[in-house]
Amino acid sequence: MQGMERKAYKYRSYPTDDQARGLAQTFGYVRYVYNGRPALRTEAWFGHHERIDDAETDRLLVRDPETSWLAEVSCVPLQQDLQHRNAAFIHFFAGRAQCPRFHRKHDRQSATYHIGGFPWKGSNLTLAQMNAPLDIRWTRPVGAEPTSVTVRKHQAGCSFVSFSTEEDVARLPEVNVNVGLDLGLLDTVVRSTGEKVGNEHFLRRDEKQLARAQRSPVRKQTRSRNRTKARCKVARIADRRRDFTHKRSTRIIRENQVVCAEGWNVKGVLAHPTLAKNIADVGWGALPRQLEYTARWYGRTFVPIHRFYPVRKRCHTFRQTVDHLPLAVRYWPCPICGAALDRDVNAAQNSKTRDSRNGPPGWRRRPVEGMIDPLGNGWRDPDEARSPDERSPGIPPA
Ligand SMILES: [Zn+2]
Repeated sequence: MQGMERKAYKYRSYPTDDQARGLAQTFGYVRYVYNGRPALRTEAWFGHHERIDDAETDRLLVRDPETSWLAEVSCVPLQQDLQHRNAAFIHFFAGRAQCPRFHRKHDRQSATYHIGGFPWKGSNLTLAQMNAPLDIRWTRPVGAEPTSVTVRKHQAGCSFVSFSTEEDVARLPEVNVNVGLDLGLLDTVVRSTGEKVGNEHFLRRDEKQLARAQRSPVRKQTRSRNRTKARCKVARIADRRRDFTHKRSTRIIRENQVVCAEGWNVKGVLAHPTLAKNIADVGWGALPRQLEYTARWYGRTFVPIHRFYPVRKRCHTFRQTVDHLPLAVRYWPCPICGAALDRDVNAAQNSKTRDSRNGPPGWRRRPVEGMIDPLGNGWRDPDEARSPDERSPGIPPA
């Protein structure tokens, strides 16, 4: 079975000096077009109470004789950028996103070429107004004809190209294994099978060097080598973490048919007074998100756990909840069945149970948006194996 999915392929690229100059110019013009729009609109609104629509701003920006120098670079990324800008404003006015911000010169730069801005023959990439193909490290083949390509330059100075495609993703053969996950700090991922992966401590490993590189930035000259060094360090930590979560999520999806995990309220937990730094370092936000779309690609099921379901304070056998379980308690005896419980493994096993997605007992049962009932995929609920009078007083089935 196959399905059309959007995928992206990202590669490291090494532009020549000439190409780098051309790209830097393109990035600059793209930024000008992107930033010019809110400035024009704000000025018109607060200056003479006029509302300018998209077409008018585009005309003012691009057709203005004073900005005729914009024609020095390919018009493809500029037009694409205007579309991005329009979309950003549409989302903002619809209340779905924050107000679009100005792009800064020292942030990550990017330019998107849709099809037509680059001839594609399956291997080499020569962008519009470039006379030689870009030097790209092709670590894997691009899965299908790309619909657009984005060139990026990170703060650290590394260049990347990413191809966006729409392709048939081959579904993985079905397996009869379901797993519950617990995301933690001592072990970033604990499976209901008892497997723990530890914590790589991406930040802590480099923290001292990072602090040294970032120390007293006021004493370092803008655009100095030391500033670049600090930026590279931050980028490398993020790269390592991203690589780790991608590999982890792909492996979990490959090995299991149904994956249950809780989606953390990352914004909320990042307000923690002492653990915020550690929480930011383990990627609790990224992993469930990656699990969700990887599951969709490969025909697996990802089941998000209800935020208020007490996965940690509940014994997974008889579903008895204790009132209080301090963070320091890693192992605890169940007061009802006497089982010795590992805090994290018990939480992972609780994630796997059926009522974990419905919230705590007494919580109004409501379906999670986009959730597929995994019962057809060989899902087993521990409650079903017991006789009715042994069952826990959980939520009555709908
Ligand atoms: Zn128990």
